[in-house]
Amino acid sequence: MTNRPLVAGNWKMNGLKAAAAELDAMGAGYDSALSEKVELLICPPALLVAQLASQDKIAIGAQTCHAKENGAHTGDISAEMIRDAGGAYVIVGHSERREDHSETDADVCEKAEAAYRAGLVAIVCVGEVESERRAGTTLDVVTKQVLGSVPAGALAENTVIAYEPVWAIGTGLTPTPADVAEVHASIRATLVKQFGAEVGSKMRVLYGGSVKPGNAKELLAVENVDGALVGGASLKAADFLGIAEAY
Ligand code: PEP
Repeated sequence: MTNRPLVAGNWKMNGLKAAAAELDAMGAGYDSALSEKVELLICPPALLVAQLASQDKIAIGAQTCHAKENGAHTGDISAEMIRDAGGAYVIVGHSERREDHSETDADVCEKAEAAYRAGLVAIVCVGEVESERRAGTTLDVVTKQVLGSVPAGALAENTVIAYEPVWAIGTGLTPTPADVAEVHASIRATLVKQFGAEVGSKMRVLYGGSVKPGNAKELLAVENVDGALVGGASLKAADFLGIAEAY
């Protein structure tokens, strides 16, 4: 594993202004030795992006964006607004967005393009549901999602892929390291074929789904795993730092 790893936290719809104290605790534990080894990112609810981005130890991002820069889209936020608030990343195509908001690969691709337009890094999420895993179609499903969701102009600098088996999110279940290795090798091969060896080999591919301090070492040591996207265990500084310390 040669790419600088990224451990990204997705707070989902959790956190009030007081959550700044948790971020401060994360920042306090993120010393120079750890920051040399791993990059940390927190994606809080959109309303907290500006407040939390006022510290400079941990990168801040958002959990989704609209594809358009502005306009009549009640309740949405644009990539430019995230950038203006101090965000550096945006997650696109999380399975909860794909499920709850019927987002398609084409929608996700447009959102990633919006991220590039605004100067954000897009974290593009892909992953199979349980029935697809059981049917043995995981690699086909994930390849199709990568090809449909990652824009043609993707670079290693502006794009991160997050492989998140949907059945592993928030369940305490994880694939075996061998299963993770198989999917990540397949994603890597797809990226190399689609974007060339230089870009495809450097684009970071995160694993997400029930990553905790107790299993992080094993999962993050898998070949082609360049970090983690973490939900529940990113809410508390001790857990989140415990995962980062696997490096
Ligand atoms: C997620 O929602 O992206 C996620 C990985 O959640 P958890 O870590 O709680 O499984």
